[in-house]
Amino acid sequence: MCHSSHSPIPWSIRSHGRALGALSALLLGVVGAGQSTFDKQAAQDSVSRMTASRPVLAQDLRQWDFGPVHFSNDFPGGRANHVRNADGSRYEVLIEPEVTPINGSPWYAFALWADTAHTITVRLRYSEFHHRYHPLRKYRNTGWEPIPTTDLSYPDGPTHAHPGQTGDTIQLHPYVDVQLNLTSDTSWIAAQPVIASADEEDWWDGHLREHLNERGYGRAENGPKIRYYATPDADRSLFVIGRQHPPEVTGALALRAFAERLCANDSLANAFQAAWRVVFIPIVNPDGVDLGHWRCNPGGVDLNRDWWLAQQPETQAVRSIIEGQMRSQNLLVDLHSTWKDILYLTSKGEHNPVIQKWLALADERMERPVPRKVIEFFAPITSMQWAEEQGFSALVYEVGEDVPMSEVRKRAFIYAETLMISLLKDQ
Ligand SMILES: [Zn+2]
Repeated sequence: MCHSSHSPIPWSIRSHGRALGALSALLLGVVGAGQSTFDKQAAQDSVSRMTASRPVLAQDLRQWDFGPVHFSNDFPGGRANHVRNADGSRYEVLIEPEVTPINGSPWYAFALWADTAHTITVRLRYSEFHHRYHPLRKYRNTGWEPIPTTDLSYPDGPTHAHPGQTGDTIQLHPYVDVQLNLTSDTSWIAAQPVIASADEEDWWDGHLREHLNERGYGRAENGPKIRYYATPDADRSLFVIGRQHPPEVTGALALRAFAERLCANDSLANAFQAAWRVVFIPIVNPDGVDLGHWRCNPGGVDLNRDWWLAQQPETQAVRSIIEGQMRSQNLLVDLHSTWKDILYLTSKGEHNPVIQKWLALADERMERPVPRKVIEFFAPITSMQWAEEQGFSALVYEVGEDVPMSEVRKRAFIYAETLMISLLKDQ
């Protein structure tokens, strides 16, 4: 979830209401206020504290053995902070965030198997957070499938307005019990499909190879390699970035589909590539992804608050990639995931003719237009605000986290096609 820290999401407010309240005041403090109240130094000091490195909770990577039943979190993207045998065939997996306060995106991923066939119940329990992601399961040679709802049971919990702004209510559950049949064939349980940084690299190295004429990386001191892939150079640049927030996998999958359409070998994509270079940065936060983080990089920082001051190595690297490839006209699309599909733009973006034309064309083709929301920050701390400061057009697309893959692809294709059409018409 990208921008929820200014709205009261119960997932995080329960234990961290005070801290988030202070942050909300900071983020929204100058909306509607005159410039006279804008104290740049105070703002900079606040953001500097917000995006300075802080210690993260270390997760031991290990295997838990309970006689014939085994659990493991020891793989890239794994997250299970502790596993215990509650009694008999009941087990409890504790899932904790890397830092608090934090947005409530309780990522979990672990493997399990048994030496002989066993039926067990696994309780997913969160430290001070509520259950959010419907568990998925995969075996070595299968894809990810949702666990049947008949195998899940929840305790009663309070109801709350749906965080996806659907007008519905949602029940908050402190835990969920999952009934599982185990065999010696290992399976993985996770909040979303596990796509670690190496998986993402494999995908980009294996796909679109003939369409991407440049691949490289940016790297700041003490930071990971931030990889990019680009189409041939042109007079204008489109930047497509994703995975600032590790659990936001539907955004990553939409990014791939978006890339496939932009790189297709047809007259539209060929004309587009002659006019626009596309630079893809699929994982801005590779170490956070591999550490199984809920939100942050290894410095315990939400990278999408660090674009202004760039205190973290990932933000420094991604900014320098972009700065090195800006052309006469530039556009940034940043992909995320949240409860339901939504587009975020600034009030400047809302009146930007390039964005307007694009979204109008996309709305015509969608079965249901994706809702839009204008969000303001007092300083360019997110990718979108930072890009606009550089003179870019910019948009954030938040993909619904439970949207089926076929629909994720369909919408990403529509956005890619309508973007190409509207940008070509614009010239
Ligand atoms: Zn996000």
